[in-house]
Amino acid sequence: VWASVQQAPADKILGLTVLYNKDTNPSKINLGVGAYRDNDGKPWILPSVVAAEKVLSQTEENKEYVPIVGSPNFNSLIKKFLYGASASGQSLVDSGRVVTSQGISGTGALKVLAEFTKSFYPIRKVLVPNPTWANHIAILEKSGLETEPYRYYDYESNGLDVTGLLEDLRKAQEGSVILLHACCHNPTGVDPTLEQWDEILEVVSQKKLLPILDMAYQGFRTGDPIEDLAILYKFCDLVAAGKLDNFMLSQSFAKNMGLYGERVGSLSIVTSGEEESVRVKSQLEKVIRPIYSSPPSHGSKLVEIVLSNPEIYAQWLKDVKVMNDRLVDMRALLYDKLKNTYKNPLNWEHLLQQQGMFCYTGLSPEQVSSLIDKSVYLTGDGRISIAGIYEKNVDYLAKAIHEVTTA
Ligand code: PMP
Repeated sequence: VWASVQQAPADKILGLTVLYNKDTNPSKINLGVGAYRDNDGKPWILPSVVAAEKVLSQTEENKEYVPIVGSPNFNSLIKKFLYGASASGQSLVDSGRVVTSQGISGTGALKVLAEFTKSFYPIRKVLVPNPTWANHIAILEKSGLETEPYRYYDYESNGLDVTGLLEDLRKAQEGSVILLHACCHNPTGVDPTLEQWDEILEVVSQKKLLPILDMAYQGFRTGDPIEDLAILYKFCDLVAAGKLDNFMLSQSFAKNMGLYGERVGSLSIVTSGEEESVRVKSQLEKVIRPIYSSPPSHGSKLVEIVLSNPEIYAQWLKDVKVMNDRLVDMRALLYDKLKNTYKNPLNWEHLLQQQGMFCYTGLSPEQVSSLIDKSVYLTGDGRISIAGIYEKNVDYLAKAIHEVTTA
């Protein structure tokens, strides 16, 4: 019966890893995968998570199913963690306007939000940045929504095309849904400044757009997960000022707690009031139940411990800083090698200015394929994962980039 099933195109990033694994060059470098690596190129289990595992192994009483939207403890800790340090955020929570649910990491949270939007919002159009994480388009479209790109990246400056972005939002259909990356935009590493966020939100308000804020890299903008909530707080302030009625948030602990495979994150839906929240939550349960019934509990129990144990929480803040500092250092080191060791004539300032795990290098598809010939693996759009760079491979990388850009 499956004879007519066609071969699906290989996933670009997983495909790169297959090529990388086959390569026998001892100097090979994998800059495809967006997962943190330490200075020896190894995955890192955060000390805070190790401590939480220890507590959990001593205190866990059962492995029962958790409720459809996650445990009440998880949800109340999430509300405090995400909204509690903002006066307008806390007041939204206090007035019962924030419905949260555990998500199967960020992807699962986005999928549930997409399904909820399709079921209950009259407009199917979702404005997405160009470019965006490829899975955004797949999740939204597979859920029956339409995507429409808005200008985002400026290929001339390797920065934000803020003029194009604002123009496209002003031209958009009133009431459209808009997907925004909270920080450390994937794939470009380019974020609006806080002032540019104000301009964007002004148009979001005027055009009555319904935002989905996707926050997968909280902590990798400033090194402090709470400081990185500044963007979310702007949305809360806008609601408090009566300039925005609702927004949605998807949030992931994959990167900032290193809980990639545990699949833990959350979603929030801001409603107009307590009674509406009760109805929204009831329908959220109806959306989730036939997809995965209830979320996994191991990762969420670890998050509950990290967020509620003051010592482990303090350790977690340090852990995030360690990861972010290393990424910032690797950007500086690669820049230094390119400009000072190899005297590369191109402008590499964007390497320092872009934020988070990724950098859009500006390398052409031809230059990317020459790099792959030199055993440096990256996606065809020229995106590199800074986490794949460490002190021992940065020289080989800089030399390879220098050679392909000056050939
Ligand atoms: N949004 C963006 C922009 C991402 O880059 C990612 C991870 N690659 C996610 C969401 C979700 O990741 P996860 O499902 O692992 O939390």
